[in-house]
Amino acid sequence: MTGNTFSTTRREVFKLAGGAAAAAAFGGGLAQSAKAAAPMLGVSRPSIYRFKVGAFEVTNILDGYVQGNGPHPTYGNNQTPEAVQAYAQSQGLNPTRMESVYVNTLVNTGKELVLFDAGNGKARIPTAGKLPELLVTAGYKPEQVDIVVITHGHPDHIGGLMEGEGGKPTYPNARYVFGEVEFDYWKKGDGVPEARKANREQFVKVAQPFGEKATFLKGEGEVVTGIRSVPTFGHSPGHMAYHVESDGKRLLIWADVANHYIMSIQQPDWHVAFDHDKEAGAATRKRVFDMVSADKLAVVGYHMPFPALGFVEKSGTSYRWVPASYHFNL
Ligand SMILES: [Zn+2]
Repeated sequence: MTGNTFSTTRREVFKLAGGAAAAAAFGGGLAQSAKAAAPMLGVSRPSIYRFKVGAFEVTNILDGYVQGNGPHPTYGNNQTPEAVQAYAQSQGLNPTRMESVYVNTLVNTGKELVLFDAGNGKARIPTAGKLPELLVTAGYKPEQVDIVVITHGHPDHIGGLMEGEGGKPTYPNARYVFGEVEFDYWKKGDGVPEARKANREQFVKVAQPFGEKATFLKGEGEVVTGIRSVPTFGHSPGHMAYHVESDGKRLLIWADVANHYIMSIQQPDWHVAFDHDKEAGAATRKRVFDMVSADKLAVVGYHMPFPALGFVEKSGTSYRWVPASYHFNL
């Protein structure tokens, strides 16, 4: 847009567009009413969002969503329900109902197509498990995926690794990358709490077989040139975030470092029910928030509101989520 467009006044637009049409455009009440009521179409939400990080193309895909009771006791697990409900309300959130989204990320480096996490898979939640279809809508074929990176072993991240009864790999030509600590935890199964027993069985069934063609990363390890792991343990025993860099542009795919854009970010010390080690989860959140806010490092979060791309701003002793706008388009 030119500066001239910005400086056009309402009066000028009125003159340019002609009186009646312009009046209608400004809600002047001259619009003709339609002959038949338009059908109600239900909610429509965007599910594919592609942007560039240097020479890389990054596509976020909405595997789906789930709605349920909350945010307490999932968030603010160590707070009273009243305190969490009051806080939710003060932030404009429904105090007793919430939604979680699942957002997979695909990075095309130009040499490799790298998928971060496999989504829920078909069976888990009727409103999720859409990744394989949406991947096609986004312009890719499952066979084109070269590498599947698993950030951690929870069901919403590994559920889509295999499809169908016989357990065929959803991404037949891919090799796999796991954090070594995470893979070993689920493989060995020592000290898995009761609430995670089914999760462990699922991991053994759908993720462990890929160990045979997997790379295991320890500390800061390289997936491919420009993509490296960032240990962020706490939410799960060996949870990994991934740092993406191309032509000096950077991005952190933080997976489940924070699971709610208000509850986890503005109240990082509040315990999250499904964090494996709740204190470590809180410490990791604050460490990562400090890093990304100081560096103004863009973030993609698996459970952040779609398109799940934004920044974290420090605000006193707290933080806030700032959705990205056109930052990557210019
Ligand atoms: Zn998750």
